[in-house]
Amino acid sequence: MAQQDDVFKKIVSHAKEYGFVFPSSEIYDGLSAVYDYGQNGVENKNNIKRYWWDAMTLLHENIVGIDSAIFMHPTIWKASGHVDAFNDPLIDNRDSKKRYRADVLIEDDIAKIDDKIEKEVAKARKRFGDSFDEAMFRQTNERVAKLVEEREALHERFSKAMNDGNLDELRQIIIDREIVCPISGTRNWTEVRQFNLMFKTEMGSTADGAMTVYLRPETAQGIFVNFLNVQKTGRMRIPFGIAQIGKAFRNEIVARQFIFRMREFEQMEMQFFVRPGEELKWFQTWKEFRLKWHKALGLGDEKYRYHDHEKLAHYANAATDIEFQMPFGLKEVEGIHSRTNFDLSQHEKFSGKNIKYFDPELNESYTPYVIETSIGVDRMFLSVLCSSYEEQQLEGGDKRVVLHLPAPLAPVKCAVMPLVKKDGLPEKAREIVGELKFDFSTHYDEKDSIGKRYRRQDAIGTPFCITVDHQTLEDNTVTLRERDSMEQTRVSVDDLHKLIHDRVSINSLLRKLK
Ligand code: ATP
Repeated sequence: MAQQDDVFKKIVSHAKEYGFVFPSSEIYDGLSAVYDYGQNGVENKNNIKRYWWDAMTLLHENIVGIDSAIFMHPTIWKASGHVDAFNDPLIDNRDSKKRYRADVLIEDDIAKIDDKIEKEVAKARKRFGDSFDEAMFRQTNERVAKLVEEREALHERFSKAMNDGNLDELRQIIIDREIVCPISGTRNWTEVRQFNLMFKTEMGSTADGAMTVYLRPETAQGIFVNFLNVQKTGRMRIPFGIAQIGKAFRNEIVARQFIFRMREFEQMEMQFFVRPGEELKWFQTWKEFRLKWHKALGLGDEKYRYHDHEKLAHYANAATDIEFQMPFGLKEVEGIHSRTNFDLSQHEKFSGKNIKYFDPELNESYTPYVIETSIGVDRMFLSVLCSSYEEQQLEGGDKRVVLHLPAPLAPVKCAVMPLVKKDGLPEKAREIVGELKFDFSTHYDEKDSIGKRYRRQDAIGTPFCITVDHQTLEDNTVTLRERDSMEQTRVSVDDLHKLIHDRVSINSLLRKLK
């Protein structure tokens, strides 16, 4: 674990050092859980968004996009349930004055028992070697059985308390389990209370006329309230989807793990409207398609897992998370939810408007059911960054830090470098940049030794380096160096465009989704 913490720290400082992610307001000592994207980060993030947007809207003729405002009528949040129920249970430690989510403290405690179980299994595996029968061991080992029993009991008690919204019971679990504050080490806890995660502000200039509005905690509601607008103006027929990318805001109690949990973040959400009764079929379809989208990036199929929800939100009839192996554990990057007709019905009720769809094939009107796919851009960015980072020991004692970013997501696609700063090589290199820059984000670099220049590009994940030397002037060929293998090949300048395009285009990813 300590080793993984170390790697994660290195990734965070690498992200800053190479212009991917900066703490917000840094010269004023930062603002907790808010981050800015730098010159490389923004390109990487834009590429992630482009990949998602195209996968939704280009590949599906029945999905269109919108861009709704962040401010919306406050009644929307009443209708959606966010005013009354978008809460987290909060608890303070009186000695450290630190604030925690009660549910997270208990979840961490459950994870500790899981760790203990896994350690027992790992020890036994080492002891028994090849003859180890893991399933048998898990069933029969007394210590493991006891731990499993302890875990199940705790999990059941915790789930019940969460389902019942029983805050006293949550506190009692923390007391009974002797959970201590990681900062003060004490068990001097306050009561548990509900904390609403929405940010509020005022709209309007006069005190009397001012209205409380919220910064949206999800982009989905902007889609629901535009359902009829899009359906009618786009003459959409069910099933169809509406996609949106945009900022969302949550006043998270404990924001940790860098950009994993932020107070201002970005979501990519798609609401797919279907006939009542067909939602579970579509839920399955979207569940599969979304995992395929992730896997096409080539970060490693084994790093993903579905986590089906046992506890469903009151409006959902199926839900799953796509989890990804981060350095700090398997974590949710995307949620896929079958939201029934809850949202549209609620908006119908609160607005008094008819939000039904007339189905010409069935010759009847109904409130459509909805499958939602909801993914955080920043969490996606983090998963890409973490799985791309490598410190490589090279032959001859050299070291390099390389980001094996999926080429279509890399902020810079190619860097063109004259071997020396004279003899017409810079001019030739500039000429090549002049051609490539129309299609690819291209760097020109002539400073330092060629080795150092390669390292700089490796560190930001540039898939290709193109070196112009004296031979280039004679036969119009260059050295094309590939980031991951560091292999260098001599290619004609005329072939560069195609060679690069085949590897770096978003299109090459989209084709894997067929
Ligand atoms: P969590 O349980 O981690 O708080 P959630 O289940 O509340 O997440 P959803 O409401 O389903 O998350 O939001 C959909 C997606 O938005 C999440 O899968 C995640 O990628 C992203 N997301 C949610 N909250 C944050 C946040 N505070 N910072 C960054 N991304 C977030």
